[in-house]
Amino acid sequence: MKNEKQLILSRIPKVDVLLERPFMKRWEQTYSRNLIKVAIQQVLSRLRQEILDGTCGTIPDEEVIEKNVIAYFQRRRQFHLQRVINGTGTILHTNLGRAVLGKEISEHVARIASSYSNLEYDLEQAHRGSRYQHLQAILKKLTGAEDVLVVNNNAAAVMLALTTLIKGKEVIISRGELVEIGGFFRIPEVIELSGGTIHEVGTTNKTHMEDYHRAINENTGAIMKVHTSNYRIIGFTETAPAEKLAALAHEHGLPFINDLGSGLFIDMRRFGLPYEPTVSESLNQGCDVVTFSGDKLLGGPQAGIIVGKKSYIEQMKKNQLLRALRVDKMTLAALEATLQLYLDEDLAVRNIPVLQMLAQDQRTCMNKAERLHQALADCGAPVRTSVEPCRDMVGGGSYPEYTLPGYVVTVEAAQLTAEEIEQQLRHSDVPVICRIQKDKVCLSVRTIEEDDFASICEAVKKLL
Ligand SMILES: *Cc1c(COP(=O)(O)O)cnc(C)c1O
Repeated sequence: MKNEKQLILSRIPKVDVLLERPFMKRWEQTYSRNLIKVAIQQVLSRLRQEILDGTCGTIPDEEVIEKNVIAYFQRRRQFHLQRVINGTGTILHTNLGRAVLGKEISEHVARIASSYSNLEYDLEQAHRGSRYQHLQAILKKLTGAEDVLVVNNNAAAVMLALTTLIKGKEVIISRGELVEIGGFFRIPEVIELSGGTIHEVGTTNKTHMEDYHRAINENTGAIMKVHTSNYRIIGFTETAPAEKLAALAHEHGLPFINDLGSGLFIDMRRFGLPYEPTVSESLNQGCDVVTFSGDKLLGGPQAGIIVGKKSYIEQMKKNQLLRALRVDKMTLAALEATLQLYLDEDLAVRNIPVLQMLAQDQRTCMNKAERLHQALADCGAPVRTSVEPCRDMVGGGSYPEYTLPGYVVTVEAAQLTAEEIEQQLRHSDVPVICRIQKDKVCLSVRTIEEDDFASICEAVKKLL
């Protein structure tokens, strides 16, 4: 047995010999000779291992070796972080990268990333500038705030605001707002990490103004409100209005901090969703510091935006922590391009994918689903498909109990279970992520671009 393996091993062709064969020579134009050599070495060393393991009993012919060399290049070119098609219908899918940037926005990011920029250079004065300067004017214009600051994400924004403003002091917050956001971002722990102590008031379902009044003492550092983004308390409930909390805070010379989670510049009733105050409305209610995400309903890049009173934000700008939380130039580029669209609401709705997807009514979804259905029929994939109504989610911890009426294309194959289809689609060249409902694979078209139909057809055709 041992000798037999030795015999096969001895027949493995030499790297230098393979390199000179015509079938390898023709790849020298695509890849360098050196890269091909490395690829051949890899392929041969795997072959050697397979012979030793007993999983391979003969030397494959040249065609197979060539194929393996090409496969090696293809594997190397595949990224671990890669594009996927979101067939779940959840617009802000936390696992799938939350907000998708618009085409022009990502082009702008690519331009800034691949060249020098005035990131920290003042083009007027020809001296050092600040990266925080670029978004000042536009954010002030959109929110009406006195001052603004942008950091890495909203968690960082909350952290910076609290660390700067409440160190060693108490933060008064309702028991109903001591939330965990996801990824273990827990408001009580963040307050403690910021060096403050929590002064909880009220109960889970009801917190009155009177509770806040009674809680104020000489060690109070701030009153805080946190948007309970990802859950709702319904029934016998009461929360204190922001205006009154602001007035109470100001009476005592305290900042009123409001963590909005998802910052809005547009009234969401436009998309059939319930009313939530926009960022400028929150500031008008008297909030001194408002924090929100760039990549939730705003539809921009991951970022944390802080707007509010100059006196408070100036202090945050001097905090050493800011250096650790600072945004990258690509984020600034993406955010500025997103914010510019918001100067005209209709332009924003047309060009920001998150808003586009929110704006798709059921009829639009149905027509899109019909087109995907037709594309699947035309490509001759061996599957049964149908078009059915569904309910989509906003996601990203926003509007947890609201769904959007949409449409799915269901996919069934004679020899495969729904789980097998789901798994195979997930492993296709461009992974297609989908839901299974009532034993059927469902592709919700709200979150699928028409440009992706061809990739979906390719994936479905390959189902075995
Ligand atoms: C989502 C959310 C956060 C965290 O924001 P990230 O941008 O994910 O860091 C903080 N607070 C609230 C209320 C949120 O909804």
